[in-house]
Amino acid sequence: MNVPPITLALSKGRIFEETLPLLAAAGVRVREEPEHSRRLILPTTREGLRVVLVRATDVPTYVACGGADLGVAGLDTIIEHGGAGCYRPLDLRIARCHMAVAVPEGFDWQAAARAGRRISVATKFVRITREFFARRGMYINLIKLYGSMELAPLTGLADAIVDVVSSGQTLRANRLVEVAHVMDISAHLLVNQASLKLKSAELRPLIDAIASAIRSGSDAENPGV
Ligand code: ATP
Ligand code: MG
Repeated sequence: MNVPPITLALSKGRIFEETLPLLAAAGVRVREEPEHSRRLILPTTREGLRVVLVRATDVPTYVACGGADLGVAGLDTIIEHGGAGCYRPLDLRIARCHMAVAVPEGFDWQAAARAGRRISVATKFVRITREFFARRGMYINLIKLYGSMELAPLTGLADAIVDVVSSGQTLRANRLVEVAHVMDISAHLLVNQASLKLKSAELRPLIDAIASAIRSGSDAENPGV
C-alpha cells in the first residue's frame, strides 16, 4: 500500500534550527541545509516525510489549509493567525521569548493613560496588542508595522511598542524599557485537523516521538525534577 506523504512546514532560522534536535531525537534527519540550498522542499531520512520552508507567519496558513500536515510556529504567530483549522498538541518549548510593552526611558505610559490620553502603540502583533490593552480598559491608537518596531518611538511615530523580547538587548540599544509583560512565547506544533484523522497511523507515532523528545529535553533542563 502507498503511504501518504507527510509535509512539515518550518520557517528558516531559529524555528528550523531549534526544531532539528527534536526531529533528530525522534529519529528524523533533514537531508539538506536550507542555508546552502535554494530548495524549498527538503527530503528527510524518514520515508514519506518532507519539510517545506515557508515564511514564519505563513506556517499556520499552510497547516490550516492543508498545504502541510504539520507545522512549527511561535505562539505569537499562531494567535495572530487565529489558529482555526489547526490542532496544537505540543508546546515544543523552543524559540522561547516573551511579548512585552516597551516605551522610551522616562515615558510614564500609565500617567498618560490616566490623564485620558490615548497612547499610540506600534506593533506587528495587532490581535495580541488590542486584546492586552482592551483587558486593561485602555484605549490606544494602534499602528500596524511589519518590522523594526523599536524605531517607532524614536522617530515620534508611536509612544510605545509591543514586540517579542528575549535578551532585551535590542530594547536597551534603542533606550527603550520594558514596562509590561504581555505573555510568554514558545513554538508549538500545529497539526491539520483532517490530516490527524486521515493520516493518524503516520502522524501519531511522529507526534509521540516528538513529545518524548521534549520531555527528555526538559528533564535535562531540570535534573531531579
Ligand atoms: P520574519 O523575521 O521573516 O519577518 P518572524 O520574525 O516572524 O518573521 P523569526 O524571526 O524567525 O520570524 O521568528 C520566528 C518565531 O520565533 C517568532 O514567531 C517568535 O515566536 C520567536 N522569536 C522571535 N524573536 C525571538 C527571539 N529574539 N528569541 C527567541 N524567539 C524569538
Ligand atoms: Mg524576525
